[in-house]
Amino acid sequence: MSDTPAAAPQEPQAAQADEATEAVRPGFRSDVTVELVKHSAADSDVLWAARVSTAGEQSLEELSKDPERSRGLINYLMRDRHGSPFEHNSMTFFISAPIFVFREFMRHRVGWSYNEESGRYRELQPVFYVPDASRKLVQEGRPGKYVFVEGTQEQYGLATRAMRDSYVQAYAAYQEMLAAGVAREVARSVLPVGLYSSMYATCNARSLMHFLGLRTQHELAKVPSFPQREIEMVGELMEAEWARLMPLTYEAFNKNGRVAP
Ligand SMILES: Cc1cc2nc3c(=O)[nH]c(=O)nc-3n(C[C@H](O)[C@H](O)[C@H](O)COP(=O)(O)OP(=O)(O)OC[C@H]3O[C@@H](n4cnc5c(N)ncnc54)[C@H](O)[C@@H]3O)c2cc1C
Repeated sequence: MSDTPAAAPQEPQAAQADEATEAVRPGFRSDVTVELVKHSAADSDVLWAARVSTAGEQSLEELSKDPERSRGLINYLMRDRHGSPFEHNSMTFFISAPIFVFREFMRHRVGWSYNEESGRYRELQPVFYVPDASRKLVQEGRPGKYVFVEGTQEQYGLATRAMRDSYVQAYAAYQEMLAAGVAREVARSVLPVGLYSSMYATCNARSLMHFLGLRTQHELAKVPSFPQREIEMVGELMEAEWARLMPLTYEAFNKNGRVAP
């Protein structure tokens, strides 16, 4: 679902919103944005890096000699976890997602570079996350092995209404403080983690594989993970871009249980 303008508040709580809220109407989204803005990433980057071991400075000439051998070499590197040849490439993504997704995302420290929009230097825009009807709402099971199941209509109605009301109220408070001259970096304290932020994230195939192994659920995964759905949505979109750039590496990743080498 794409950006949807907020309907006029109907709930009693939202109806109390003051003039500041009327002036800046929050928008609600249930999707995430992932754009590949820059890349230098191909299977050949893996091959020349690996072949320098045996071919030295001739490794570049070896590249196009035998495609099946190349597929075999990439699979061998993945299977035996020779990871460094998968680092000689780069992908930069523009990502827009709720702040709670970024909190999880930035735990990935190795092989990643981040730059995020500032809440000190610019006024944060009122775009907030509200799950759509496909988002499973109810958690069952024990920590580390949760299953999520559909909620009832009532639960979905409650969750989306409570979020919208809360966002409207929080953003009105933010606006009120800004209008009174309070600094952006102080006023932002009232904004919730459902607020959308944006960032550039740059990685290489090895660091992306590690991320995907942890942040997606996949039938081919040798080691299952249980990521939050919203970061998984980001991961799935990044995975689709990467698969197009490095098809042999992607194939080997899946074939070997989606464990980063
Ligand atoms: C399903 C799920 C649930 C989670 N729940 C929580 C939670 O409840 N609370 C919480 O705080 N976090 C949680 N996390 C975050 C998790 O603990 C990791 O911080 C995150 O997944 C990043 O993984 P990483 O450290 O392997 O990645 P990176 O930081 O990218 O590191 C990559 C690899 O480099 C090596 N490495 C990096 N730093 C060091 C170091 N300092 N010392 C030694 N080796 C290092 C390790 O081999 C590591 O796997 C969760 C993650 C997932 C996927």
